[in-house]
Amino acid sequence: MTTRTPRVAVIGAGPGGLACARALQRAGVDVTVHERDASRSARDQGGTLDVQVGTGQVALRALGLFDGFLAIARPEGQDMRALDKHGTVLRERICEPGDTEAPEIDRAELRDLLLDSLAPGTVAWGRAFDSATPLGGGRHRLAFADGSTTEVDLLVGADGAWSRVRPLVSGARPSYEGVVFVEVRLRDVDAHHPEVAALVGRGSMFAMQDNLALIAQRQSGGRVRVYAAFRDGLGWARRCGVDLDDPAAARAHLLDRFDGWSPELRRLLVECDDLFLERPVFALPVPHLWNTRAGVTLVGDAAHLMSPFSGLGANTALLDGVELAQAVLREPDLLTAVAEYERVMLPRAARNAAGAHEGLHSAISDGAPDDVEFDATA
Ligand SMILES: Cc1cc2nc3c(=O)[nH]c(=O)nc-3n(C[C@H](O)[C@H](O)[C@H](O)COP(=O)(O)OP(=O)(O)OC[C@H]3O[C@@H](n4cnc5c(N)ncnc54)[C@H](O)[C@@H]3O)c2cc1C
Repeated sequence: MTTRTPRVAVIGAGPGGLACARALQRAGVDVTVHERDASRSARDQGGTLDVQVGTGQVALRALGLFDGFLAIARPEGQDMRALDKHGTVLRERICEPGDTEAPEIDRAELRDLLLDSLAPGTVAWGRAFDSATPLGGGRHRLAFADGSTTEVDLLVGADGAWSRVRPLVSGARPSYEGVVFVEVRLRDVDAHHPEVAALVGRGSMFAMQDNLALIAQRQSGGRVRVYAAFRDGLGWARRCGVDLDDPAAARAHLLDRFDGWSPELRRLLVECDDLFLERPVFALPVPHLWNTRAGVTLVGDAAHLMSPFSGLGANTALLDGVELAQAVLREPDLLTAVAEYERVMLPRAARNAAGAHEGLHSAISDGAPDDVEFDATA
């Protein structure tokens, strides 16, 4: 590491930013995470994700958080079944006791695990990054939406899909993949929706055919999150005259799209809560490359936003954060550290993003489910 301890600013308290901060802080580096959200509970943190043995688990071990993860993870959540639109099970995987290849964890629980590992005050909540001015030698003056400023030696953009740090290294913008997910939720499925509980099982259920998919994943506490995926353009709801804030209209529209699907599968849309959230799928270009810049880099979705069909977004965000911190601690100066980190991260991200693109377009296709490689569907 450089002789003077560097000051590091991480923008964004997602898995990538928090992993980076934890690794740096454990080694005594002065690091602050600047997060736009007002608090850890300001917003729903999303569904479940599997932490994989070769990526996310490597990162959690390096952070000293693997045992804490295993204590709250759901290994049984690795169960997976793939169906066609008639509800015929095409492929099923029931995990064996002791299988820790890729246990599931709710995103909120993973984030809490990482947040609780940091010293109090490490995360500056309600601090939205606005811009950075280069000061020379890799240093930057950062400006935040609340009018505050700070000067740092290393700026880490961990601010997700619509990163404001990204333009400092790259002109790339995410583009729409032509597929939209509408997210719906069910609560207390074992007590109140037993048929849904049986359909989804302990883990995930993927039903796909005719350019449509229903993906249902069990979370902790008997909750299930469902993504109804289909091909349409941006602004489809307005064009189709659907108001997603009108639950009856949204439900009727989705059931119409999934006309001809089995009643068991349509039940996911019939019985879900009155909340319909649009999640259009965006991705950065593949490969997304840039020339190393002094004093600034990206981790996670800011660097390699990809469709969720790789199951690797959060896993590689964790790994990026840890590997960047390790490079900072190992290399003689920050420029070399950033270059070494990017030398490994960028080609890995390109491979994963290509797989995610392929996975999305084979699952939501005319050829599904026959053409789908189910092992790649995480
Ligand atoms: C439906 C769905 C399912 C998924 N399933 C999986 C899965 O099974 N496995 C998996 O590995 N991945 C999965 N992913 C992907 C995963 O969620 C992301 O890849 C991961 O969250 C990226 O982490 P990150 O830290 O890079 O960014 P994020 O988690 O997006 O965090 C970015 C943070 O930056 C903050 N921020 C943004 N702008 C600013 C600003 N200007 N100033 C300050 N803070 C800011 C945000 O508020 C946020 O807290 C899924 C994604 C989706 C949409």
